[in-house]
Amino acid sequence: MSESRKNYEPRAIEAGRQEAWEQRGDFAAPKPKGGQERVYVKPSSPFTSGNLHMGHVRDYSIGDAYARFRRGRGDAVLFGFGFDAFGLPAELAAIERQEPPAEWVAECGERMLGQMKRLGFSFDYDRVFYSSDEGQYRWSQWLFLTLLEHDLIYRADATVDWCDTCQTTLASIQVEDGRCWRCHNEVRLIRRPTWFLRITPYLEENDRNTQSLAAGGKWDDLSLATQRYILGRADGVELDLEGDGRPLTVFTPHRKTASLASFVLLSPRHPQVDEWATDAGAREELERMRSGGWERSARDARSVPVVDTGASIAGPGGADLPVVVSPIVDARFGPTAALGIPAVDDADRDIAARLDRVEVPERGEEDEGGEAPPPVAGARDATRYRANDFSISRQRSWGTPIPVVLCEQCGPVPVPEQDLPVVLPRDLKPTGEGNPLAERPDFVDVECPECGGAAKRETDTLDCHFDALWLWVPAAVPPEARDEQMFTHPDLQEWLPSERLVAGNDSGGFVFDQRVVTKALRDIGPFAFMGEGEPFAGCLFHEMVIADGRKMSKHLGNVVNPDELVAEHGADTVRLAVLYAAGPAKTLNWNDGAVRFAARFLRNLWTYTQDRLAGLEGLSHHPDAAADTEHMRDRLRKWCEAGLSRITDDVEQLQMHKAVRNITRLFERIQDFEKRVVKRRGELDRADAEAQLAALLLLARTLVPFAPHVAEELLVAAGVADGAEALEVWPETAEIPVSPSAAPASS
Ligand SMILES: [Zn+2]
Ligand SMILES: [Zn+2]
Repeated sequence: MSESRKNYEPRAIEAGRQEAWEQRGDFAAPKPKGGQERVYVKPSSPFTSGNLHMGHVRDYSIGDAYARFRRGRGDAVLFGFGFDAFGLPAELAAIERQEPPAEWVAECGERMLGQMKRLGFSFDYDRVFYSSDEGQYRWSQWLFLTLLEHDLIYRADATVDWCDTCQTTLASIQVEDGRCWRCHNEVRLIRRPTWFLRITPYLEENDRNTQSLAAGGKWDDLSLATQRYILGRADGVELDLEGDGRPLTVFTPHRKTASLASFVLLSPRHPQVDEWATDAGAREELERMRSGGWERSARDARSVPVVDTGASIAGPGGADLPVVVSPIVDARFGPTAALGIPAVDDADRDIAARLDRVEVPERGEEDEGGEAPPPVAGARDATRYRANDFSISRQRSWGTPIPVVLCEQCGPVPVPEQDLPVVLPRDLKPTGEGNPLAERPDFVDVECPECGGAAKRETDTLDCHFDALWLWVPAAVPPEARDEQMFTHPDLQEWLPSERLVAGNDSGGFVFDQRVVTKALRDIGPFAFMGEGEPFAGCLFHEMVIADGRKMSKHLGNVVNPDELVAEHGADTVRLAVLYAAGPAKTLNWNDGAVRFAARFLRNLWTYTQDRLAGLEGLSHHPDAAADTEHMRDRLRKWCEAGLSRITDDVEQLQMHKAVRNITRLFERIQDFEKRVVKRRGELDRADAEAQLAALLLLARTLVPFAPHVAEELLVAAGVADGAEALEVWPETAEIPVSPSAAPASS
């Protein structure tokens, strides 16, 4: 062994391993062999936003560990992704740099791929794609037309969330506590024609499936919680009321106390709201609410806007109930009508206190237990979901062009499929004001596909949330087949649904809508082979990475740069530290302690194992000595068996922090074994040394998913074959030689 290999030098080790992987093409998704399990591990799709950050490192370290583990067990693994390259982050960065977004995206992608390779992530890099490539967004346009044809996309003059700063409409998922997800400024509602994705037909099925996914055990609590939260299910009863000849169906979660209702709350998005707000003053107030007065953040019943329509309706208890409009309905039950029951409901109590026509009643008691009959005639079981259709178009230029022509004679006309893609001008250079697409006659002026007359292209583009609806699909299709067979290639049936999605816990909205669209494509045909309509058999969400107890930001000067960490400590140390520092459900508060721990562990393991490998040659075998320590070797074997079993369970559950802890513990025990033998006999017999070395190599095999470079280098040094088969190293059993007869005769 050369002296240089004695010291742990991550830079040299990592470069060597990465070269070997690349030369052999180890991580190309294989054609599955008969009987081989197919595992598609789906990492998050990064925005082309500049550089990898520590959140990416966390995400990909977990996903990579799982992908390597499954390869290690002999499964066929697809570990691939594409960049989410359209949208505001790239557009704003391009504006700042005064270059076309397409160039900025290409630069970012190259840089980020370089960072990923340096970290040793085992992606199938040949399958990487960009959502902003023509060959890619052609299929986003196909998806748009397909959903449009099946009435799952519609155009409506509607109230939408609007961000003044970003000059764009927002999907409901992009509004967090009344603020824009991107710029964090408050959003307001405006009315304009926009394109909607209809998700409501699939809410019930998403609800049912969420329950079965939970029972399946492959979705972690965090990801399930996001699905339930976005769905926003409320159970109760509904009943039909009538006032002045106008019928209205109202919902309440308080099934036993519906007769105590004091008023009726209407969502400003309720289809009948204009029928009820006929009073001139009420109309004016409602209009003000819609055009800016209503902030979604006003979920608090004491401050949320409330408009009394002046109209009344006959309530279930016989009394006339005032009809009031308030967005608090949306925040609780979706765009519906609900009974206000201040006697039992705190939010309704707060609303009642603000209404002139309602007296705040005595506080009642509610007994919700048991299967009692409906308390009010005509009441029937009902469920409401807060989730609702949302806008998918935006008034920005860096996005998938919507394949629709607006004709004065024919209205909106879909572009015929054979004319796709509608190409976004590649030299487009947004300035940050308005929509530059609308100012390009070469883009805008077209013939109507239907009547042949002069018409204009739709200049709204698709929100990148729409591209993301199917961003998990292309990796499963060989790149050369994507032009023709993106949704029909036979490999789709091999790899889908994805065995495991690993993503940040802010991905719940994406995942929810991906689940909806998978069901739609199942019913339409291309995904008929996915009977459940679920794109992900398993899902692991992880929390974010912060520093000094705060979110990392340039402003705070606490951004941890992965490149610097890797340059200083090596990729294996950084990966191990990120995995070790916290379980996925916990926020990772970054500190140097984890790096120091990981660096020390890897250095110790390296040196210790190399020394034991080198020292084996000089040891001889003495049957008496070996017999005297047999019980100790047997204990070592048991430790190894227990350790391997624990580590395997941990990785199967993607609880990588536990796996790393169990690996470090096993290493302590292996060292402890040597100390005990030396204490008893002064030195190791060859039988002891061979058992110990077997234990160390077992440890190295279990370390491959977490610190792949150093772990593989140790295995190679010990003579484990350095070929593609080195990938299949996960030990099924701990084979530690115990009996002295297993050791060769004295040398
Ligand atoms: Zn904004
Ligand atoms: Zn026309």
